Amino acid sequence: MKTASSVRPMGSSVFVIRYFNFKSGQLAGSLLAAALTILSIFPIVGLAAESAPAADLKSVSSQGLADLVLEKGHANLCVLTNAPYVRLDDAPAVRCLDTITDITGCTQGRGNLLFYHASVTGGPRIVLFRKDTGRAILMTARGGSGDRLTSPCSPVEAKSGTAAFQAVTLDIGPQKIVEPEAYKSIMKQVGEPAEAFSIAGILSAWALGAPYDFMKCCEFHNHYCPGVTIGYFIARIVLDKYPLSKGQKYVWIGSPAKCGDDAIQVLLDLTPSKRTCYIKELTPAQKKAITVEEPLNNVMGMLVVWDNARNQGRAAVFKYDWGKACQVSGLKYADFNPDGGAANPLFWTSRLKSNLAMIRYFDRPSEFVSVAREVEVSPEMYVRLISAGTNPYEAIGLVKP
Ligand SMILES: [Zn+2]
Repeated sequence: MKTASSVRPMGSSVFVIRYFNFKSGQLAGSLLAAALTILSIFPIVGLAAESAPAADLKSVSSQGLADLVLEKGHANLCVLTNAPYVRLDDAPAVRCLDTITDITGCTQGRGNLLFYHASVTGGPRIVLFRKDTGRAILMTARGGSGDRLTSPCSPVEAKSGTAAFQAVTLDIGPQKIVEPEAYKSIMKQVGEPAEAFSIAGILSAWALGAPYDFMKCCEFHNHYCPGVTIGYFIARIVLDKYPLSKGQKYVWIGSPAKCGDDAIQVLLDLTPSKRTCYIKELTPAQKKAITVEEPLNNVMGMLVVWDNARNQGRAAVFKYDWGKACQVSGLKYADFNPDGGAANPLFWTSRLKSNLAMIRYFDRPSEFVSVAREVEVSPEMYVRLISAGTNPYEAIGLVKP
């Protein structure tokens, strides 16, 4: 494989000139090749709706790869997209993946074709990312029947029934995304702060070598935040410390609700509809009354290992050491909620900074997560734990009188 520096950028004009540099006898083939190339770069409006988006995406993503000065299949290349979840021209946008894989060589099996969850009403976004430079090409679908415009900047106006992709170059290396001024520009370029956070965060995790099961947590949660790390840590400890025996099952009761609950769902296959995951909010007074709650060392929820045959279980209450997480991240807890909230870049850069610090501890979850108490759970207690209107900590006797 060529090194990145040896790969020459190839703009569309270079392609065209090369095809016209023919000798006698090669005229017909050269003209045909030139015509096909021009067609792929400037798709004719009015082609069948199914082929128009793929043709257009092909040219934009080819140019994007050239702009990153990378060749297909390079180890520094990754693709992140919401395409499996959204629609394009009134059909699932997932069909874009074949084009993207053809151009980039990125696949799920190689761990360099990543997804993030989005509402079906969202617009398709595809990001090509080069990890050693931090540069990325964000491709956003514009127009096309049934698409919602998700960004205020829209220089390409697509005709009805065809989809055009607009490309924007982003600078989202791990060093850049923690600088508030630089991040402000990224937010502006992407158009939506939450989407910018999804893109910058998830790609930083990949760049820093996060394990694949962690990337699946980020995909479901739709971003990488400190809460996902907490959930990942808890699940790792659950699997290590509480392996299931025959006839047993895990039930997670997340209380209060936290981002980490999504990571626990993904890693342990626990869902509300299977009655294996319950999320219960707490009032500030309820939280304060928990006997094992401490400032900056907070309860996250409890795992119940329920034994169907014996009709009894055991609950383990988990806590997370926010104080230590802040310390290793060089942050104060207040940094996570600066004046102005999500409109303030610090809101996002604090989270990204914490991510980059905590990723160094992925193989040492017990340095931040602890089991505060284990309690035997009777059938009656279990019903109270999972039912509406009951405080789960009260149900297992962990509330101050
Ligand atoms: Zn989150």
